[in-house]
Amino acid sequence: MGYYPREVLIREEPVDEGKLVEAFVIRKIGSGGLAEIAVAIADEDIIIKSGFHRVGDNKLKWTMFLDFSKAKITPEELERKISQMRDVSQVEMKPTTLGFDVFHFPLKALGYRIIMWNAQNFGSYVKRLIEVLGDVAFPILYNLGRAEAEYMWKRMSSEGGSKEDVLKILQETYRASGWGIIEFGEINYKEGRTNVKIRQHVVPESLGKSNRPVCHDIRGYLTGIFSEYFGRKISATEVKCMATGDEYCEFEIR
Ligand SMILES: [Zn+2]
Repeated sequence: MGYYPREVLIREEPVDEGKLVEAFVIRKIGSGGLAEIAVAIADEDIIIKSGFHRVGDNKLKWTMFLDFSKAKITPEELERKISQMRDVSQVEMKPTTLGFDVFHFPLKALGYRIIMWNAQNFGSYVKRLIEVLGDVAFPILYNLGRAEAEYMWKRMSSEGGSKEDVLKILQETYRASGWGIIEFGEINYKEGRTNVKIRQHVVPESLGKSNRPVCHDIRGYLTGIFSEYFGRKISATEVKCMATGDEYCEFEIR
C-alpha cells in the first residue's frame, strides 16, 4: 500500500459568481446525522464540493463548500431547512467568492497551533539564508533542528509512552504533516547505532539540486532524537541526499 496525496483544504476552486458558499453546521451526535444533512443538501441539487467534519464533545461539526450553480433553492433557504432538522444547533452559510475558507482560525494540529507554508517558499527562505550566511548557515540549521528535537522529545515523553513510542510518533508526525516518509533501520542499542532513510523528503526537494547533502536541520534533529534515545551523545551523518541525486536521504547514526 502506498500513500495518496491530499489537498489540504483552505481554498476551494471558485465557481460562478456567488454560487460557491461555505457552510458550517453543528449538531448533536446522533445516528445518521451526517447522512441526513447530506441528503437534505443533495435533494436540492446542491453539490458538496469538499469539506471536513469532526465528532467530539457530543457534537458533530461539519464545514463544507457547496456549489449552488444548479440549486433549486438559495443558500438562505438551505440554511433555514437545515436549522429545522433534528438536533441541529447552529447553521451558518457564507458566500466565498475567492473560494477561501471563511470560518476557521487559528489552525491547530494535535492541539498545537500550526501554520501552513508552501514547500517552495520554505525552500527560498532557507536558500536565502545560505546565500547570505554561506557555510555558517549549516551549523545554524543543524542547531535549530537539534533544539526542535530536544523540545519534541520532552513534550512526547511527558505524554508517557516508551522511547519506541516516541520514535514511532515522531515518524508518523513527520509523514502526516507532509515532511517526508521516515524509515528506521535496525537499531543497535548496545552500540548506539542505527540508520534512517527519508523518502519524498521535502527539504532537498524544496532546496533543489546540490553537489553535497543539504538536510542540516534534520541531521540536527536526528542527532537530538537519538542522543535522547540512546542516552548518550551520538552524531548523525547524511550519507545520501536527494539533493545530490540519490533516491532518498540516508543518515548514519552512531
Ligand atoms: Zn537530504
